[in-house]
Amino acid sequence: MDISLSQIKGIGPARLKAFEAAGIRTVRELVMFLPREYRDLTQTVPLCELKAGDTAAVKVRVAGEVSERRARRLLITKLYVTDDTDTVPVLWYNQPWLKKQMAPGRELMLYGKAEHKQGYVTLVSPTIESAQGLVPVYRSIAGIPPKALRQSMEAALKLCEGQWPDELPESLRRRHGLCERNFAMRNAHFPDSREALEAARRRIAFEELLLYQIALRLFRSTGRTGARMAFDDDRIEAFWQSLPFAPTNAQRRVLNEVAADLRSGRAMARMVQGDVGSGKTAIAFAAIALSHAAGWQSALMAPTEVLARQHYEAAKKLLEPLGMKVGLLVGSLTQKQHRLAHEAIASGEWDVAIGTHALITEGVAYRHLGLVVTDEQHRFGVRQRTQLSEKGDAPNVLVMSATPIPRTLSLILYGDLDISIVDELPPGRTPVATRIVPESKRPGLYDFLRREVAKGRQAYFVCPLVEESEAVEALPAEVVYEDLRTNRLPELAIELVHGRMKSADKDAALERFRTGEADVLVSTTVIEVGVNVPNATVMVIENAERFGLAQLHQLRGRVGRGTEESWCFLMAEPNPRLKFLCATTDGFKIAQKDMELRGPGELFGTRQSGTLTAGIGALAGDAELLKLSHDEAKALMAAPDEPDSRAVVALARERFADKLRDVAVN
Ligand code: ADP
Ligand code: MG
Repeated sequence: MDISLSQIKGIGPARLKAFEAAGIRTVRELVMFLPREYRDLTQTVPLCELKAGDTAAVKVRVAGEVSERRARRLLITKLYVTDDTDTVPVLWYNQPWLKKQMAPGRELMLYGKAEHKQGYVTLVSPTIESAQGLVPVYRSIAGIPPKALRQSMEAALKLCEGQWPDELPESLRRRHGLCERNFAMRNAHFPDSREALEAARRRIAFEELLLYQIALRLFRSTGRTGARMAFDDDRIEAFWQSLPFAPTNAQRRVLNEVAADLRSGRAMARMVQGDVGSGKTAIAFAAIALSHAAGWQSALMAPTEVLARQHYEAAKKLLEPLGMKVGLLVGSLTQKQHRLAHEAIASGEWDVAIGTHALITEGVAYRHLGLVVTDEQHRFGVRQRTQLSEKGDAPNVLVMSATPIPRTLSLILYGDLDISIVDELPPGRTPVATRIVPESKRPGLYDFLRREVAKGRQAYFVCPLVEESEAVEALPAEVVYEDLRTNRLPELAIELVHGRMKSADKDAALERFRTGEADVLVSTTVIEVGVNVPNATVMVIENAERFGLAQLHQLRGRVGRGTEESWCFLMAEPNPRLKFLCATTDGFKIAQKDMELRGPGELFGTRQSGTLTAGIGALAGDAELLKLSHDEAKALMAAPDEPDSRAVVALARERFADKLRDVAVN
C-alpha cells in the first residue's frame, strides 16, 4: 500500500506531480483521500417537480439550439432541456466547448442546483453525468480532472483490495460495532448503498477521531512546566482602569482565569472563545501587560497582515502608555526593516512583537519570551501554534477564537487546550437586523443599497466558495461582481476579493474598501477574518443556504461595528434554519443548533483540514460518535498498559506524527 502512485494505470509523470503537490504520493495516501460528498444519481427528479434551491439529478434531452452570450469575462452558454413533464433552461459559465456537444435531441443526465433566474427555475452549472449510483465528489486537485481522479481511485482500490490490515484492536471494533476496514475503504469511495456508506463513514470517522484525540492528549502531557509569572492583583485592576471603557463581567472572569494560569508555573494552554465583538483583544492585551509586569516578553500572531496591523495600532494606543515598547513584524516589511525588527526582538528592545507568521520564521529569536497569543486560531494549525511557542522556553499560550463551538466539539478539536468563554457582549450594541431575501425581492435589495450608499454607508457581498468541478469555471464571486458592475449597481464603486488573487491585489482592494473609496466589496469568505470597517452597515450573503449557521453568524459580525443600524440580508428562499438565525444573536446557541441540524462535520469544515484527513468533515458523523470516541480515548489513556491502549497509542503516533510532530517526543 505504501507503493508509489506510478504503479497505477493512467498515472503518468504529469499526474504524479499533480498528486504530489497535493501531498499524495502513495497508494495509501490516495485511498485516504476521501470524497467530500456524493452525488446521488440513484433517483432522478421530473423537471416539473424541480424547485429553486433543489440539488437534483435529471434525465433530459436537449430541446432546441444552444445560445451563447458574453458579459465581460464571462461566457454564458444557455440551452433548454426537456423530459416531457416540463422544459427548463440550463446555464453554464465559461465552458466554450459545450456548445458543440449539445446537439438538439441529445439525451443527458444532469446533476446540479436549480435557481431562480429572471423568474424561471434554471439549472445552473450542472455536471453532465455518465456514472450511476452514489458518485463520489472529491476536493479538486489542480491538474487532475475529476473523472481521472475517480478512475485513479478505482484502480488504487483494486490494487489494494483485501489488503488493508485492520489496525484497530478487534475487541474495540466489536464493542462499537465498527465494520471491517477493507469494506470501509471501498464503500467510502464507491458505496454499494446508502447503508454501506453510513457504516463505512462511521468506521473511518471513529478511527480518525479516536486517534486524533489520543494524539492531542499525548501532546498535552508534554511541556508542563512553563514561565511562572509573578504580579500583583493591582496590575489587573490597573489595566482595566486604563481602558476607555469598563470591562464586561465576562472579560473580568476570563482574565482572572488567564492570570491564574500565568501564575501557576505550568505552561498555560488556553483558548478564549467569544463572539465577534465580545472584546477578546482587550483580554489578550491585558495578559500581555501582566506578562510585561512580570518581566517577560510577549508575541501576538494574527493570520493576516491586515489583522496584524490592526492589532499593532490598537496595542500602540493601549500598551505604550503603560510603558511597553510594541513592534510590528510582517512579511511586507523591507529587508532592512526586517533586520531591525529581528534585532529589536532578540535584544528585548520590543516588549511585545505583533505580526503574522513572519514571527515564527527561522531567523527570529526572542528574548525571554513568556507569552504567546494567537488570534483567530482556526486559521492556524496545531503545528504553527507550537512553532511559535517553541521560540521560547515553554511560554504560556493563549489562543483567541471567534468561532463559538459547542463544548462537546471543543473537547475534541482542542483537546490540548483549556477553554474560557466570553459569553457577554459590551453594552450598547444594536444587534444586526437579519432578513431573508427571496429571489423575487432582489430588485428591492438594490434600491435599499443605493439609499444606504447615498447616506455614505458601505456594503459587503459574500459568495460561497464552491469547489471547482467540470462545470464550474467561474467563481460565484466573479459572477456577482460582474453582475453588480454591469447591471445592478453600475454607478457605485465596487471591489472584488477572492482567494485566487495575489495577496498584494487583495490587500489593495481591501484597503480601498477600508478607506471608503469603494462602496461595495464582493468577496468569497476571505473577509471572514479581520476586516474591521465600522462604516460598513450592510452584509449581503449570496446563496445563504449553502453556509453553515455558525459561519453566517460570523459573517454577520462584520457589520454592526459602528453606531449605525446594520443589516444582514440572506439571499435564499426562507427555511427554518435561516429563520432561526434571524431570531437569534447568541453565537453558542447558533453553533449548537448548527451541530444538531447538520452534524458536527460542518463545523469541522475545511478549517481543520490542516489537521484532520481531508473528508473528515463529511465523515465526522454525529454528536454521538464524537462522544463515543471521546469516551473511548479517555478510557484507553487511563489504562496505558493495556494491550489495546498500547496498540492504539502507537497507531495515533504513527498517523498523526507529521501533523503533531511535537507529540512524538514524549
Ligand atoms: P473580538 O472579540 O471580536 O476580537 P474586539 O476585541 O475587537 O472583539 O472588540 C470589539 C470592539 O469592542 C472594539 O472596538 C473594542 O474596543 C470594544 N470593546 C471591547 N470591550 C469593551 C467593553 N467592555 N465595553 C465597550 N467596548 C468594548
Ligand atoms: Mg478579534
